[in-house]
Amino acid sequence: MEAFLYVGIALFCMVFFRLNLLTLMGSSAAFIMGALTFYSFQWQGLVLLAVFFLTSSFLTKWKREVKMDERAEPFEDKKGRTAGQVFANGGASTVAAVGAIYTADPIWLLMFAGAIATATADTWASEVGILSKAKPFHVKEWRKVEAGLSGAVTWLGTSAAILGAAAIGGSYYLLYNEGSGSLTLTGSLIIIFAGFAGNLADTFFGAWFEQKYYCQLCKTETESMWHCKKKTVRIFGLPWVTNNLVNFSSTIIGAFIAGGLYIWIVK
Ligand SMILES: [Zn+2]
Repeated sequence: MEAFLYVGIALFCMVFFRLNLLTLMGSSAAFIMGALTFYSFQWQGLVLLAVFFLTSSFLTKWKREVKMDERAEPFEDKKGRTAGQVFANGGASTVAAVGAIYTADPIWLLMFAGAIATATADTWASEVGILSKAKPFHVKEWRKVEAGLSGAVTWLGTSAAILGAAAIGGSYYLLYNEGSGSLTLTGSLIIIFAGFAGNLADTFFGAWFEQKYYCQLCKTETESMWHCKKKTVRIFGLPWVTNNLVNFSSTIIGAFIAGGLYIWIVK
C-alpha cells in the first residue's frame, strides 16, 4: 500500500512538470520532499504540503496578465518553479521531516507545519499583495514604493499572509483533531502565529538585505533581474542574498518559532 503512495507522489510531480507548474529539476526536488514528508508525517503531512503547493500555484497563475505588467520577465523564464525555489520554500520543512526519522518527537511536526505556514503566508502575501491598488509601504525606507519590491507591505498582502498561515493551521486542526481537541487547537494556533511571524521575518530580511535592481527603461526599482523585457542594473544588496535565500531563512525562522512555542506552551 505504501509503495503505491510513493508512486502516486512521483506521478503528481510528473503532472506538475507537464502543467509547467514545476521545472524538471523542480519536480525532482518536489518528489524528494514529498517522499520524505510521507515517510515521516504520513498522508496528513502530504495534505499540508499540497495545501501550500496547490494554493500557491493557483495564486501565482491568478490574474497573471495584471502581474506580468509589474514584473514583465521574459516568457522563457516562466516554465514553472525551479529546484531552487522548491528548496527555498520546502527545504526547512524537509529538514524537519528528516529530523522526525531520527527521534519520534511531536515537535518535528510542529516545526514542519510552521515552515510550511511561513512559505504559504509569504506566497499568498506576495501574489495577492501585488494586486493592491494602494502603493506598498517599505518598512526600511519608511516611504511608499513601487509594487513588487521585497520589504514593502500592503494591507491586502498582510491580510493574505494571515489567511495563508491560517490555511495551514486550519488544515492541521482538521487533520489531527481526534478527540484531543484543545491540544490540537493550541497546535494550530502556534502554526498560524509562526507562519505570520515567519512572513514578517521575510519582509524585514527582504527590506534590509535583498538585492534591488533598477529598470533603465521605465525608471523603477524592482527585485527582478528583468523588467520591461530587458536586463536590469543592481543598485542595492549583496549578490548572494537572493529571494530564494530570504525565503529559506524565513521558513527556518517559522519552524523555530513553532518549535519554541511548542516547548514553551505544550511541553
Ligand atoms: Zn521597466
